[in-house]
Amino acid sequence: MKVVVIGGGVAGLGAAFELVRDGHEVSLYEAGPAWGGQVRTIEVGGGRLEIFYHHLFRSDYSVIEVLEELGLEEDLLWIDSNVGLHAEGRNYPFVGAGDLLRFDRVSLLTRVRLGLTALWLRRIADYPRYEGTRAAAWIRSRVGDEGYERVWGPLLRAKFGEHAENISMVWFWGKIYLRFASRKAEGGGPLGGLLAKEQLGYLRGSFGRLVDGMVADAERHGARLATGMPVERIEVEDGRVRGVRLPDGRVEAADVVIATTPSAIFAKMLPQLPELDPDFDRRLHSVQYQWATVLMLALDRPLSDIYWLTMTDDDCPFVVAVEQTNFTPASDYGGKHVVYFSNYVDPHDPIVDLDVEQVLERYEPWIRRVNPDFDRSWILEQWLWKDRAGQPVVDVQYHERLVPHRTPVPGLYLANTTQIYPEDRGQNYSIRMGRRVARLAAADWVEGLASPSLTPAAETAG
Ligand SMILES: Cc1cc2nc3c(=O)[nH]c(=O)nc-3n(C[C@H](O)[C@H](O)[C@H](O)COP(=O)(O)OP(=O)(O)OC[C@H]3O[C@@H](n4cnc5c(N)ncnc54)[C@H](O)[C@@H]3O)c2cc1C
Repeated sequence: MKVVVIGGGVAGLGAAFELVRDGHEVSLYEAGPAWGGQVRTIEVGGGRLEIFYHHLFRSDYSVIEVLEELGLEEDLLWIDSNVGLHAEGRNYPFVGAGDLLRFDRVSLLTRVRLGLTALWLRRIADYPRYEGTRAAAWIRSRVGDEGYERVWGPLLRAKFGEHAENISMVWFWGKIYLRFASRKAEGGGPLGGLLAKEQLGYLRGSFGRLVDGMVADAERHGARLATGMPVERIEVEDGRVRGVRLPDGRVEAADVVIATTPSAIFAKMLPQLPELDPDFDRRLHSVQYQWATVLMLALDRPLSDIYWLTMTDDDCPFVVAVEQTNFTPASDYGGKHVVYFSNYVDPHDPIVDLDVEQVLERYEPWIRRVNPDFDRSWILEQWLWKDRAGQPVVDVQYHERLVPHRTPVPGLYLANTTQIYPEDRGQNYSIRMGRRVARLAAADWVEGLASPSLTPAAETAG
């Protein structure tokens, strides 16, 4: 089988990883100048760091499996989680049940309700019971307005902005369930992980090494990979996929094409989609994305002593401050202390047009709330990273919007972050999806089958 994979993020690399092992002929094209997509890295102080902060949970089995297959498992570090909440000028550690009980911004009753609710969700495995339920309403009914406004509401607003009230309970369930499953994997005991100390995973030297490993592995198996190669069109002839058109006008023939780009780019590469299948096209376009915008600073000293600090004040212009060097040592980056200030925003938010200086100016008073001594003279380097497909908006109708991996064109498959469900998107699930869709395509090729009627989960289960 001759396969073209479009997109050199971890989903595309996962697909190539699987296909070359199965003996197929693979070409992989990435539009940008580097591999990794949302996991791409830059050099900082002689070390290497993701442009968007990354860690793993213990339940991220698919990425752990690839690390093992690449012989990198020895370099996977499990580091005690060090997370906190910032509220009205104070940083509160929020690692375990003890921190929750000490969280005096809410009443004792609310603290107990927050703990019991997390425990309850931890035990629920059948997420379909939450289809059609709004997370905000469900959370309010369980922990009251105070618990919602001071703890979970900020998390929903942080990720989804104006869509927060409309987010599906399935998304929220996934966040809690998998997080506690992760703790249980560490031996959480009878309370299902509530009392266990969480550990987060990081690859020594950055996840760029995972990306490099997958690229090198595919090349070693004979795949052809190229960056700086935006696919312009998916070629369809006699009702099935025939290949892709490259920027130099050349058409590369293929039996199978697997696209891993965001939905809008996929639609652009296949302009005949609305005529081929109006319903697929409508659903594809009905999923909205939040932009990810991340201000990354390298400082000459620490900003706080917390790795992951969620900002709960509604007027704060960023939603989380991720101090990488409270997770991995500053000595890995030539002594520089690196902090990411992250925000997920609607496409019409003015921040998407601002430059790094303008964003810094907006954020500065709030950086000072995290540490009142903060001064611009501490900044050694600064970057601003944006991705318009940062986070799909998993609203309450999401299960009706999902498109299957098999597209209306036989031989053409789609595997992007909008199709990760019920889990929240993450590199683990993108790799898993890339590998599963590769297997699906290979099985269809063998059987000469291409039914477009299944949901992504049903297509790739197992
Ligand atoms: C701010 C942020 C923080 C995150 N933190 C974590 C975390 O802590 N842990 C975790 O596990 N995950 C995290 N993630 C999620 C994780 O990075 C993604 O789920 C995963 O990387 C998505 O991979 P992908 O291959 O599906 O998509 P992408 O990485 O978006 O890859 C798609 C690729 O397609 C390419 N492309 C687009 N158009 C074309 C074209 N025409 N031709 C060829 N190529 C094209 C793009 O350039 C891109 O490289 C985070 C994401 C963000 C934005």
